[in-house]
Amino acid sequence: MIEFLCTLAGMIAGGAIVASITGMKEQHAQDDFMHQLENLNTEKIRGITTQLHSLSERVLDNVCSHSEKIKSFGDELTSSEAIDADKILSAVDKIISANQQMQNDLENAQRQLAHQQEIIEQTTMQAMSDSLTGLANRRALDEHLGGLLNSKKDDECIGLLLMDIDHFKRFNDTYGHLTGDAVLTCFARLIQQNVRSTAFPARYGGEEFVVVLHGANEQELVEQAASVRKFVSEQTISHEDLELTITASAGLCMVQPGDNLTIAYERSDEGLYKAKELGRNRGLWLSKDGWVQFPEKAAVPEPATDLVQSDPSKPVGEESESVAKESEENSDLSTSDSTELAQGEVQPSNEADYDEEAAPAYMDLTTFVDKVRDHLNQLQQMDLPAACIMVEASIPGEESESRLSWQKVLTLIQTKVRGIDVLCHFRPMTVCIFLPGCSAEASYERASEVKELLLRSAIDWDLVAIPEKFAVAVGHVLEKEEVPSMLNRMESALDEAKHAKDEEIVVHDGASTQFLQL
Ligand code: GH3
Ligand code: MG
Ligand code: MG
Repeated sequence: MIEFLCTLAGMIAGGAIVASITGMKEQHAQDDFMHQLENLNTEKIRGITTQLHSLSERVLDNVCSHSEKIKSFGDELTSSEAIDADKILSAVDKIISANQQMQNDLENAQRQLAHQQEIIEQTTMQAMSDSLTGLANRRALDEHLGGLLNSKKDDECIGLLLMDIDHFKRFNDTYGHLTGDAVLTCFARLIQQNVRSTAFPARYGGEEFVVVLHGANEQELVEQAASVRKFVSEQTISHEDLELTITASAGLCMVQPGDNLTIAYERSDEGLYKAKELGRNRGLWLSKDGWVQFPEKAAVPEPATDLVQSDPSKPVGEESESVAKESEENSDLSTSDSTELAQGEVQPSNEADYDEEAAPAYMDLTTFVDKVRDHLNQLQQMDLPAACIMVEASIPGEESESRLSWQKVLTLIQTKVRGIDVLCHFRPMTVCIFLPGCSAEASYERASEVKELLLRSAIDWDLVAIPEKFAVAVGHVLEKEEVPSMLNRMESALDEAKHAKDEEIVVHDGASTQFLQL
């Protein structure tokens, strides 16, 4: 009887212990646990391991002292000759209270284990997500893609869309790093809210984002990719008092069995690179026949965000802040008839590219002056800087030929401006660019980039009329300065720039002009 009671007590206690740790011993849970542990940083692992170690020692101590207690109750009972009911009842009482104590200890231990598990999960989440945007990070992306490739069915298609914000550095340079961060966060949110639930968006690094897409066929993936790229490139980001327009370029490839993240990323990056070369604000995907532009008429998902708003109220042609990005889109490549490019080849030059219609971003002088006046009022109230660049090209030759070359110059200049910049046909062969929020230094850098690009492109000019010279002048807008004064100063600087060397631009610092080396 006594032996039976002792065995029973032992079994109850043993059962409780086993039950408390069975969950952890399940193979699946253990694998998960080990897997999560691998993702923690060493310091946290060390902390958790120490705590688990002392917890297991405490449980072990408790189990030992519990066994000893049970044994001593048994000894007590068997040592006396006469066994009466009181003694048995008292032993049972002691065993029950010892079991109760053991149960409490185990419950405490379980609570601590649950707490540790929570910390592990939290830390794992942190280790798998990007701290700025909250999107999955590269490690999580790598794992996700690996898992998908392992379980991929034959009739499934997986694509890797790589998107990069155009001229992102300028947001940092013009408005500061914090505004740059806000742009990244909003951009991430836009992606997240506008991809299908089966898609997996992640921040690859810097201003590059990846979305792993799922679909029944290539066409479906291309449409998804084009739609999300187009959507994010049509939004306005409201940050503090600023309304910022962003555009993104993209590359998409189909992920093949045997690929890993690096291979797929590099393939998509090639498309992204070509998209940048073609003027940005577009996407390319790798078909069997080579790189093909995304269809322009992609179905655009519904916007749904507080910080980021689209502005559909603006009539076409009046969207000064997004004109540049619109004009960057090649109108000849619109519609779902994608234009195919041979692998490794960039967009062929053809006359249509330099059609006047291809540069609707440049407004006439009167509209420009009105627009810039409004901008200046707002910027001066916010104490934000602004700058202006003027570019003049001398292109000899027949009028129709030089006009064609001039269109090419306009298109090239557009690739160097942001969505918020304002462009104008100042006079024949001369353009003026107003740069809201741009500091003097940033504007010098931009003007140099414009001139470098024009000179570089002029080497392989594939049109009959070859530009002889580009004059570039730049200056920041002075305190309380009005538009006519700004334009007069730039015009006089431009006159001097006509005498500058190829590797020079002219800077007007408000008081005087000087030549600046590229
Ligand atoms: P492109 O159109 O050719 O892509 O030009 P870009 O200016 O977007 O690209 P570039 O590679 O020249 O500059 C990317 C910048 O992104 C440089 C870097 O300082 C900035 N950047 C990277 N990560 C962060 C971040 O987390 N926050 C902020 N604010 N800036 C970042
Ligand atoms: Mg980049
Ligand atoms: Mg970029």
